[in-house]
Amino acid sequence: MDELREITQHLLRFSPDALVVIDDANRIRFANETVKELFGYAPEDLIGKPLDLLIPERLRAHHGKHTASFMRSPNNREMGARIADLFALRADGSEFSAGIRLAPIRIGGRLFVAAAIRDTTERRLASEELIAARKEADRANRAKSRFLATASHDLRQPMQTIQLLNASMMKFVPEPQVRELLQQQGQAIESMTRLLNALLDISRLESGAIEPVSVEVPVADVFEELRTEFSSLARARGIDLRVESQRVVLSTDRTLFYQLLQNLVGNALKYTDHGWVRIRCSTDAEGVTIAVEDSGIGIPADKLERIFDEYYQVDTHGTKRMGVGLGLAIVKEVARLLGFSVKIQSTVGQGTQAQLLIPNKFRVASALATTESAAAPTHAAALHKARLILVEDNDGVRVATELFLKLEGHETLSARTVAEAEVLLEGLAPGDVVIADYHLDGRNTGLDLLLRLRERVGYDVPGVILSGDLPSVLRSIKSPVVACHFLSKPVNTAALVDAIAELSATAPG
Ligand code: ADP
Repeated sequence: MDELREITQHLLRFSPDALVVIDDANRIRFANETVKELFGYAPEDLIGKPLDLLIPERLRAHHGKHTASFMRSPNNREMGARIADLFALRADGSEFSAGIRLAPIRIGGRLFVAAAIRDTTERRLASEELIAARKEADRANRAKSRFLATASHDLRQPMQTIQLLNASMMKFVPEPQVRELLQQQGQAIESMTRLLNALLDISRLESGAIEPVSVEVPVADVFEELRTEFSSLARARGIDLRVESQRVVLSTDRTLFYQLLQNLVGNALKYTDHGWVRIRCSTDAEGVTIAVEDSGIGIPADKLERIFDEYYQVDTHGTKRMGVGLGLAIVKEVARLLGFSVKIQSTVGQGTQAQLLIPNKFRVASALATTESAAAPTHAAALHKARLILVEDNDGVRVATELFLKLEGHETLSARTVAEAEVLLEGLAPGDVVIADYHLDGRNTGLDLLLRLRERVGYDVPGVILSGDLPSVLRSIKSPVVACHFLSKPVNTAALVDAIAELSATAPG
């Protein structure tokens, strides 16, 4: 028994924690050797003293309440788990950050409390450093997103100018070799645009700035839109684009859903040199599966795991195809946001199968099952060239757009400011089409301009709104003006020409 007692005393003495026992009157009844190291008191000097001796004055009242509550319902616990700042007072008046564990001891009907106290200054500093590092990382992340947004906005204007000048030059140059060079230049501009948009899309997705908004989305509509977007590219590359849709309606975010499929179809076409690309939809007990398959170059099995990583590209035969390795990172992020999962299987030399698995809970029974597969607009028949009223505050972009549109055969009037535009628009005639920048000045958007015009003339004046916003952002703008197209800068000149032709074919007058 004596032996055991001795061992216990030893253990108490050498415990790395200072151990103190107090009675129900808050007086210290026991203190081990470690209190000397931690508090600077000899243990015997503490016996019989009030516990307050070890507590900084400013915390005593609070501590008193805490001890009283502990005495009412005593149990083993970490003190201050809910109090962030626990401090203890040394004999020399200095303080240290303390971690304290409490345990009740009942002896002969009296309640004592044992406290194990340790200096947590280092842990506290480490956690403060961690918090500071985290704040710094968040700040850097916000700065990165701001930089990307600004850089992309400021890059769009000159890119728009170059794009329009490139298309205008095409009209003057008969020599095939020079045309070839201009064509290559045009392609380089397009790939810069794609890169810019992908960088911004991924940074917006990662910053958590995007919240999906669910609406009823007929899969057939989205497939039709994909067909419209990709059929000319497929034709140009000699690839058979097969779209097999189904009468399925989903409840999901239309813009994000389209963006996801757009990336998969874009990849299928990019990595297929001959054969076909197929988009199809099937349903089973689990849910809806959308497959984007190709007969392309395929992906080596050992690379499949990494293709969803940001900036990862499989360098096939040393030829990197236009891209930066963000497409599938965007697919992964968007699928996560929407609650879908994506699988990719592939065989080198035979092709790739991407599958989007959509759980049944996203499926809705709806009357909206298909598009009223509207006949393609017959704007090609619109031989008449509409008069255009252009509103653009950036000088370079305005001059280049005006030049391009005039070369396209349109009478074009242009305004630099909203005030100048208001003057021009007084002479608006039925059949005129307005082409306006979206962010015109602090107060007006191009859409506001169209709305005011509608109020004045009593019909929807057809308009093309050009904007520095991402295509993925523009797609979610709901325009109250029906005869209105939104195009993202730098606009593809063919898309601009198409939009004007379609609007002038349907314009009144
Ligand atoms: P990238 O911009 O390079 O296309 P992605 O993130 O979209 O980037 O794709 C990552 C890599 O995965 C690509 O570089 C490509 O090697 C491979 N990949 C993606 N889709 C396909 C496909 N359908 N066929 C073959 N390889 C593909």
